[in-house]
Amino acid sequence: MQLDAKMPSGPLTDKWDKHRFELKLVNPANKRKYSIIVVGTGLAGGSAAASLAELGYYVKNFCIQDSPRRAHSIAAQGGINAAKNYQNDGDSIWRLFYDTIKGGDFRAREANVYRLAQVSNHIIDHCVAQGIPFAREYGGLLANRSFGGAQVSRTFYARGQTGQQLLLGAYSSLMRQVAAGQVTLFPRREMLDLVVINGQARGIIVRNLITGETESHAADAVVMCTGGYANVFYLSTNAMASNVSATFRAYKKGAFFANPCYTQIHPTCIPVHGTYQSKLTLMSESLRNDGRVWVPKTPGDRRPPNEIPESERDYYLENKYPSFGNLVPRDVASRNAKAQCDLGKGVGDTGFAVYLDFKDAIKRDGKDVIAQKYGNLFQMYEKITASNPYEAPMMIYPASHYVMGGLWVDYNLMSNLPGLFVMGEANFSDHGANRLGASALMQGLADGYFVIPYTIGGYLAGTDRPEITTDHPAFKETVHNVSERINKLLSINGKRTVDDFHRELGHILWEYCGMSRNDEGLLKARKLIQELRGEFWENAVVPGSDKDFNQSLERAGRVADFLEFAELMVIDAFERKESCGGHFNEGYQTEENEAKRDDENFCHVAAWEYKGDDAEPELHKEPLVFENVKLTQRSYK
Ligand SMILES: Cc1cc2nc3c(=O)[nH]c(=O)nc-3n(C[C@H](O)[C@H](O)[C@H](O)COP(=O)(O)OP(=O)(O)OC[C@H]3O[C@@H](n4cnc5c(N)ncnc54)[C@H](O)[C@@H]3O)c2cc1C
Repeated sequence: MQLDAKMPSGPLTDKWDKHRFELKLVNPANKRKYSIIVVGTGLAGGSAAASLAELGYYVKNFCIQDSPRRAHSIAAQGGINAAKNYQNDGDSIWRLFYDTIKGGDFRAREANVYRLAQVSNHIIDHCVAQGIPFAREYGGLLANRSFGGAQVSRTFYARGQTGQQLLLGAYSSLMRQVAAGQVTLFPRREMLDLVVINGQARGIIVRNLITGETESHAADAVVMCTGGYANVFYLSTNAMASNVSATFRAYKKGAFFANPCYTQIHPTCIPVHGTYQSKLTLMSESLRNDGRVWVPKTPGDRRPPNEIPESERDYYLENKYPSFGNLVPRDVASRNAKAQCDLGKGVGDTGFAVYLDFKDAIKRDGKDVIAQKYGNLFQMYEKITASNPYEAPMMIYPASHYVMGGLWVDYNLMSNLPGLFVMGEANFSDHGANRLGASALMQGLADGYFVIPYTIGGYLAGTDRPEITTDHPAFKETVHNVSERINKLLSINGKRTVDDFHRELGHILWEYCGMSRNDEGLLKARKLIQELRGEFWENAVVPGSDKDFNQSLERAGRVADFLEFAELMVIDAFERKESCGGHFNEGYQTEENEAKRDDENFCHVAAWEYKGDDAEPELHKEPLVFENVKLTQRSYK
């Protein structure tokens, strides 16, 4: 099958304007006739639901949490990128575009990334108009700080709570539409399947997580904004409910899954401290603006950090990458932290940590200035570790954090299944093989506020869709399949907890498909995952009933999907015989141990088609064409 990204023709800088003009419009009276399902209330889903309702469409908006405000986007700390160039330090739309393409190791589409950079400035204007309390300079202009992979300051922030503030903005817009009757909210619902009729996405099946009831919902189009699957690693910085289930079930209904092996390991997280830990905490990348990363020069040096003199410290990022220093991109910083620990220079009880030190910044700027920028992050660190980062350096280590893989979408953000749109972290589209910090919030809001309002109109106006209701046999059949699966989970009656399976799956992936991979390990991982999945369906314990609030059942469904999806990740990683961004295959590296791409054979998006539970998925390749940037070996030296 030929994947058509529906890329507009013409110069890169004009593509989006031209496309918007060429897209068919739905007139205001007709908009009222259409209903749209939006799954997810994070920054992508919340902004989309609000914008589509504002346009006049009737929207049904679903989420797992009790309130849209609890979507995982609320956890975002550091900031959101935009090319405003308020700092006058050389930024531009083109530079943001170039940094993002290069940061993604030349594995993203030029046109999507350029549009993202263009729209970034509108997002800031929109959010300021909503009243988002971005940090400001003394003169009143919005303040900026730097994030990895960029030499300009373009990150807008609200202390360490940027995601929360942006989500409150989207939520306010959403609730305005709820009050106006244009949006109906369905909290505490979990999407368990997609309904496809005549090849078009026409609805979803959800479980009411309070009553256990299964509900059917029909619409003219379905917009999935269900976030990322980093929790497949068990320990991650994501919210506990983050999952792959919604996108994976859509994959099983025919939507292609793109680049599942592109996952991001974030370099600055609080290290793992115990076997029964279920969550990891991020220390925002913004801290690398002022914090200096180091390890002792001598392996095995166990002296407390304050007793190690300057001459015996290795500021390895500053030494190895003088141009970007501590602000190299995440994949580079993570791999280097691992390399130092592998050399025996790691610190802390486990030896799997490096220092992030603010001593020099506090001496230079004063404690008050540092507290103003990062106060809540320092407080969070102290609460968790009982160590005061104003006095002793933080200890950090890489952890699973974000995914660049997701459902394949075209330039309109529509999957290969007509009528199924996918946005935010749930799609694969804009970050290539590595996401630069502060770009996910930008993408989610670009998709929701500025892209989908145009592209969904083009679909609705340009497609014939028969009238359907939830009485259609396809709904009945899907409900039946969903109920069967729930009953199957409840009847396993085994002895091992679902969490225990999940923890073991996480270990396998972290070990063999984590920060670095090799072919031998990937083959081993695939076998281990198959065995673990087999054991799950024979020996998992899922207590309780389906007629009630049952979090064990919820978790079991999500872990069952992770156990299938993990194999797809490993298959994808094995297939890609190169290293790029977050996918680092040890067999493909430069002499300096950096990721080595193979542009001749792998300059493509790998989109996988489900072919049945007992069949191999089929690989479809979308070639990536670069007409405006030259593909180079990424260097941050
Ligand atoms: C700790 C942390 C800090 C971060 N900081 C930054 C930052 O500073 N800057 C930045 O750019 N990015 C940051 N990121 C990344 C960024 O926060 C996320 O990529 C982004 O918020 C994802 O938004 P989203 O709308 O796609 O998904 P989410 O916010 O994850 O929302 C998903 C929504 O889908 C719903 N959902 C999921 N599955 C189902 C289902 N099966 N049925 C029904 N509903 C479902 C959920 O209930 C939720 O409403 C951070 C990430 C983490 C983990």
